[in-house]
Amino acid sequence: MSQTINAGHSNAPLLSGRTQIVGVIGWPIEHSVSPPMHNAAFRALGLDWCYVPFPVPPERVPEALAGVRALGLRGINATVPHKQALLSLVDELTPEAQAIGAANTVIVRGERLIGHNTDARGFLRALGEAGFRPEGCAALVLGAGGAARAVVYGLATVGARVTILNRTEDRALALAAAFAGVHPQASITGGPLEPTTLARMAEGAQLIVNTTPLGMWPRVECSPWPEGVEFPSGAMLYDLIYNPRETLLMRRARAAGAPAVDGLGMLVHQGAEAFELWTGVDAPVDVMRAACVAALGGE
Ligand code: NAP
Repeated sequence: MSQTINAGHSNAPLLSGRTQIVGVIGWPIEHSVSPPMHNAAFRALGLDWCYVPFPVPPERVPEALAGVRALGLRGINATVPHKQALLSLVDELTPEAQAIGAANTVIVRGERLIGHNTDARGFLRALGEAGFRPEGCAALVLGAGGAARAVVYGLATVGARVTILNRTEDRALALAAAFAGVHPQASITGGPLEPTTLARMAEGAQLIVNTTPLGMWPRVECSPWPEGVEFPSGAMLYDLIYNPRETLLMRRARAAGAPAVDGLGMLVHQGAEAFELWTGVDAPVDVMRAACVAALGGE
């Protein structure tokens, strides 16, 4: 059987001995939109760089990091479930990665691997892009998992008053305690994600952030917000979910007259931060966003 070679494809990267390689490790990795996002950015700026997805099972992450060094990669992203594992495998951690307890970006500096976390800054950049100033705001965060750690840390660094509500209350309380000293003006409390507490805490909230996966494709009929609780019209909703682009919770917020923003901005800006750390060049954010939207099958 003959094989079709698309030699004239203008988007194909032309690799050479000078091409700088970065990539992402995850398990699974085939649905990651990071490769199209970063490769579109390299092409747009004419950078001789290439971003490669690497499927790495959890038990092989130490070998993969040794490979990053041995193969001369410039850096690597880590996604689910490897962000915590990197903590003990890099030579140095930024204070942010240490505080959040996860590293999603590694930079190679000579023989040393430096672990960063770009999720918190990516989240704050996305809020800024949406026109929301989080400094000192009253924020309600739903969920207390890995993404919530970055979100709550980011909000704490700008002196926000944060309430974390989670199905497993103990995790909310532990997260609140972990970031208690991040900023003198910040206050962080935790509680259970149940209707009475939610209704009480939603009153006066300026920002509501959904960090739970409820409403994510394919279970788009789910929402962390119970039917009987009114959504506050004076708050902005930031839903970390980006597939679908409009969740049931976002529809609920918009029906109540509240602005609602999906998680694509955070995805793009955490990537933009990593891009800038590796290349030292401002990331072409609009190009990256368009590549993500296309990769997600949207318009
Ligand atoms: P995770 O660590 O597994 O945490 C999930 C959180 O959601 C936990 O607090 C969990 O509560 C809660 N939860 C799960 N199922 C629930 C249910 N049925 N009812 C109530 N609460 C429930 O996941 P994660 O890594 O934080 O990711 C969470 C979401 O954020 C995913 O949709 C992910 O795609 C998205 N995300 C987006 C970005 C972005 O750039 N936009 C970045 C990271 C993550 P318990 O503690 O009680 O289990």
